[in-house]
Amino acid sequence: MKVEVAVVGAGPSGLSCAAALVRLGRKVAVLEAAEATGGTLRAAPGYLAPAAEGRTRLQTLQAAAGPAALLTGHPAGSLSGGPGAFRLEAGNRRLTAGAVVLASGVRRRLSPADHGLEPAYNLLGLSDMARLLADPQASLGRLRGRRVAFFLDVSAPDSLRQQAAAMHLGIAVRRQLAAEVLWFGRDLKVAGDGLEARYREARDLGVTFFRDAGRPPMLTATAGGYRVWAWPEEGGEPVEVAIDLAVLDEREEPCLPQWDLGPRRENSRLGHRSPRPGIFVTGSLRADLDLEGCLVDGVAAAAVADAFLRGLDGLVRAEVDAPRCARCLTCVRLCPHRAMAIAWYREADRAAAKVDKAACRGCGVCVAACPALAITLTTCPDEDIYRQLESGGRTT
Ligand code: SF4
Ligand code: SF4
Repeated sequence: MKVEVAVVGAGPSGLSCAAALVRLGRKVAVLEAAEATGGTLRAAPGYLAPAAEGRTRLQTLQAAAGPAALLTGHPAGSLSGGPGAFRLEAGNRRLTAGAVVLASGVRRRLSPADHGLEPAYNLLGLSDMARLLADPQASLGRLRGRRVAFFLDVSAPDSLRQQAAAMHLGIAVRRQLAAEVLWFGRDLKVAGDGLEARYREARDLGVTFFRDAGRPPMLTATAGGYRVWAWPEEGGEPVEVAIDLAVLDEREEPCLPQWDLGPRRENSRLGHRSPRPGIFVTGSLRADLDLEGCLVDGVAAAAVADAFLRGLDGLVRAEVDAPRCARCLTCVRLCPHRAMAIAWYREADRAAAKVDKAACRGCGVCVAACPALAITLTTCPDEDIYRQLESGGRTT
C-alpha cells in the first residue's frame, strides 16, 4: 500500500490527525496494534471523558477519519527508507509513506511503591478504575456506600490528564456506586477544557477535595482498607480518615516503536517534529494533554506533516488572514512560543492576530485551534523575519 502519511496509533490524537490530513486531501493509513480504534477512549472508558461523552466523541472521530485506511490489529514493525519514501512493516502489510506521524500514546502502570504501599486487591490505578466502572460484569456492589479515595501528584506529579481522569472517575463513582469520594492532591488544575464545570459538579455531588502543601498524604493498610493522614494546605493537624478503596495515579511510559528517531537528549520531550526528518509526533506521547489537547494536537501535527510534504518544512511560520480573524484570542492564549499577539493591520484597517515570525516555530497549534480558520502554515523567507525583528515586531 502506498500512502502519503502513515499514522501510527488510532487513539484520539491519531484519529484527529488522520481526519485533519484527510481534510487536507492527503492519502492516509492509520496503523493500530489493538483490534479496534479508540486507544484510551475505548480501553479505559471514562478516563479521558465521562464514558457516554467519550463514546460519542469516538464515533465522531472515527467518522471523520473514515476515508483513511484504518488497519487495526497491525502493530508498527520495522521502518526503513527516508522522507518521501519510508517503508513500514505492519503485521502482514507493507506500506510506503511520504511521512509518518507517531501517535502511539503512553502505557500506564500502577506503582504502589511510589505511595509506600504493597500491591493489594483494594488498591487500583486510575485506568483500572475506569475499566472496572465500564465493565457490567465487575462486582462493584461491595463499594456501595463505602469510601473511595483518589490520590494524585505522587507517581505523576502535576499531570493535568490524570487530574482530569480522577475528576471524571470520582463523579462516576459517586453516581454509580453512591460511594463517598475523597480526592487528595497537591494542586487542582481546573484550567483544562470543561474541568471547572466538572469540579463544580463534583463539589455539588459531595466529593471532598484535600489539597496538600507539598506533603503527600500518608497511607497505611488496615484489615479492610487504608488509613490516611493528610496535611491540609492551610496547615494545622493532619486529617485522619479510613477508606475502603484507594485509587492511585499511575506512571506513564511512552509507547515508542524501536525506530531510530535521530539524536536527542535522553528523556527529552519530543516536539511535533522528531529529530528524524519526515517523522512527526503527536498526542500524549509528546505532552501531558487532556482529551481536548490531544484532539488539537493531532490537527497541529497534521498541519506540520502537510507542510513537510509540500516541501516547506523548516521554513514554515504561521500566517494570519487578518480580515478573517475574529479576535477571539485563542491563538494568543495557546501559542506555546508566545508568538501571537493582537496588532493593528494598516492595510486592512483593523486589529487582528499577528505572528511574531522570529518567535514562531511553525508548530501548527494555532492553525488547529483557530475557530475562524484564519491561520495557515506558510513559508517565510529569512528577510521577513529580520525585517520584523528590526521593526520591533510591529506590523506594516
Ligand atoms: S484564533 Fe483565529 S480568530 Fe482567534 S484571534 Fe487567532 S487568528 Fe483570530
Ligand atoms: S505555529 Fe505554533 S509557534 Fe507559530 S504562532 Fe502558531 S502556535 Fe505559535
